[in-house]
Amino acid sequence: MKLGVFGGTFDPVHHGHLIVAEYVRERVGLDRVLFVPTMISPHKVDAAMTSPAHRLAMLRAGVKSNPFFQVSDMEIERGGVSYTVDTLRAMGEENARDEFFLLIGADNMAEFRTWKDPGEIGKRATLIVMNRPGFAGVAADPSLPKDVIQCAVPSIDISATEIRRRVQKGLTISYLVPPSVARYIDRHRLYREL
Ligand code: ATP
Repeated sequence: MKLGVFGGTFDPVHHGHLIVAEYVRERVGLDRVLFVPTMISPHKVDAAMTSPAHRLAMLRAGVKSNPFFQVSDMEIERGGVSYTVDTLRAMGEENARDEFFLLIGADNMAEFRTWKDPGEIGKRATLIVMNRPGFAGVAADPSLPKDVIQCAVPSIDISATEIRRRVQKGLTISYLVPPSVARYIDRHRLYREL
């Protein structure tokens, strides 16, 4: 099976995530995309973050209608700082016959060489870089794995930061997140204070 792995804080999941993941799934012919919310992102260690339980619940609600999308709570269950290489190792042991593809937005890809064990990540998964408004594509860089796939996806200028700011200001987030996610945010009074 060809498995896409899409990590992030998903605080909250939004239509940018969902649209680009669905495009990549179709273009690369993935059998499934696994959304993996981080416990603590190595790049956001000091940032205030919504609880893992809320982020997980929003993600589950947000992907529910797509039979190709699944959520893995592996990083949250593992606890501590979430390193992609550890996740790929564990997934590779669980599903030794599967082929892994790592979905990364162009903004994250810019810092890829600072990740833990980038060389091993490149061996365990094929990297798929998705363009994101405001961020350049990946320049030819000898430190990157050779077989990086650049997947052209629609440019969706939505970020979780913008959604949190809008909720805090009392502005609408309709059409930026799935209705189930908007209802969850409202019901649990998330993001009212930043
Ligand atoms: P924040 O604004 O809180 O930093 P975010 O919107 O960037 O959050 P993350 O959960 O940090 O969302 O992103 C997870 C992954 O999804 C990252 O690889 C990021 O590059 C990618 N991503 C998020 N939004 C988009 C988008 N609109 N287009 C393409 N890739 C995206």
